[in-house]
Amino acid sequence: MDATPSFENFKLNKQLLNAIDDLGYQKPSLIQEKAIPLITAGHDVMGVAQTGTGKTAAFVLPILMKVKYAQGNDPRALIVAPTRELILQIEQNVKELAKYTDLRHVAVYGGIGPKTQIEQIEAGVDILLATPGRFMDIYLKGHINTKQIKTLVLDEADKMMDMGFMPQIRKILEVIPVKRQNLLFSATMPEKVVKLSEEFLEFPEVAEVTPQASTVSTIDQVLYQVPNVKTKIRFLEHLLQNEELSRIMVFTKTKTTADNVFKYLERKGLGPVRVIHGNKGQNSRINAINQFREGELRILVSTDVTARGIDISMVTHVINFDVPIIYEDYVHRIGRTGRAENDGIAITFANKAEMHHIGNISKLIQQQIPEEKLPAEVEVAPTDRNEQREIDFELDQIKRKNDPNFKGAFHEKKRKFRDDKKRKPVKNKRRRR
Ligand code: AMP
Repeated sequence: MDATPSFENFKLNKQLLNAIDDLGYQKPSLIQEKAIPLITAGHDVMGVAQTGTGKTAAFVLPILMKVKYAQGNDPRALIVAPTRELILQIEQNVKELAKYTDLRHVAVYGGIGPKTQIEQIEAGVDILLATPGRFMDIYLKGHINTKQIKTLVLDEADKMMDMGFMPQIRKILEVIPVKRQNLLFSATMPEKVVKLSEEFLEFPEVAEVTPQASTVSTIDQVLYQVPNVKTKIRFLEHLLQNEELSRIMVFTKTKTTADNVFKYLERKGLGPVRVIHGNKGQNSRINAINQFREGELRILVSTDVTARGIDISMVTHVINFDVPIIYEDYVHRIGRTGRAENDGIAITFANKAEMHHIGNISKLIQQQIPEEKLPAEVEVAPTDRNEQREIDFELDQIKRKNDPNFKGAFHEKKRKFRDDKKRKPVKNKRRRR
């Protein structure tokens, strides 16, 4: 039996599964595994999870299942979050996941006039996303009929408390129907959030992903800043000249990179090597894992889909060809080495944007990953234009996330460039994995 967790297990409809597939999500994250079945079953849920765990999709997917298709004019789900930035991020998730449905969503937040937002609401909405203050403004002007709201999400509750939004939240609770499902998400659980949850949730179920603080002590971790894919490949090839690397797992973020790395290593005769990912049939995956376990392979290239659950001991080295976006996957990946008291080494390659995620991973595992300089023998390749744009785009996103006032020239420039050329924008392509 294949124990790999799968989105199919959640009984999501075809439209949602297709959208998940387009996004390249290969398996549910831990918070999704825990929260989605509880939310789908209709419970009030207290979700404790940080950004980077996939928590947004953990509440967006069940809501999309529940509201299903466009109906009437008034919102049936309300998602409240503390900042415009966060609302826009959640909206992005809703947009991507609802793309094959006819569901209508509207995001309302401060900083701009409410006129357009009001018009959008009045045109008909199924899911409303709002910062607390702006929601109350528009409500008090008489433009939101709250009677159909059956689900309420408060996201980043701890931040909302810190920003002093409690009075507005109390007001929101007063003006929406009492009979509803409540979901409260928070990165941390300080006393005030516990209090809020007691006030607001009915017999809640808790879905928690506690940061896995301690990674196995027998694993040596090391980090290299490697500017681009070409240099990563060169560096990987360089490392593989060392015969001490005898049983290696190489992890990549995407199936395409996994296939490319596999092909390169095979061509260079650095194997025996095989690749496993979600597109490979189950038999092929099992065969590859067995061959690897029995020592017939030197290298197994894999995406995160296989990182969990397989117990392969005696892996001498884990190489993170790129940094996982779901941070807990870092722990799962490097956990393949250092098993059963064996010493293991985990080597991570990170470009400039990925270094930011490394910062967050260090917080999660509560240790600094020691960094070393790229050996002089590894020639640094220039960064390809498309890759540079992707890195810049990601850095821009990170800056926006950290600083709500950051203007982020990237979008403007990109759009202008595209308009000049009269080309259609390639929507969200770079976000796909
Ligand atoms: P969040 O914690 O909701 O901010 O999500 C962090 C990032 O993970 C976002 O870029 C999501 O698009 C992405 N993501 C969410 N769920 C998954 C998944 N199951 N597999 C891979 N990426 C995901």
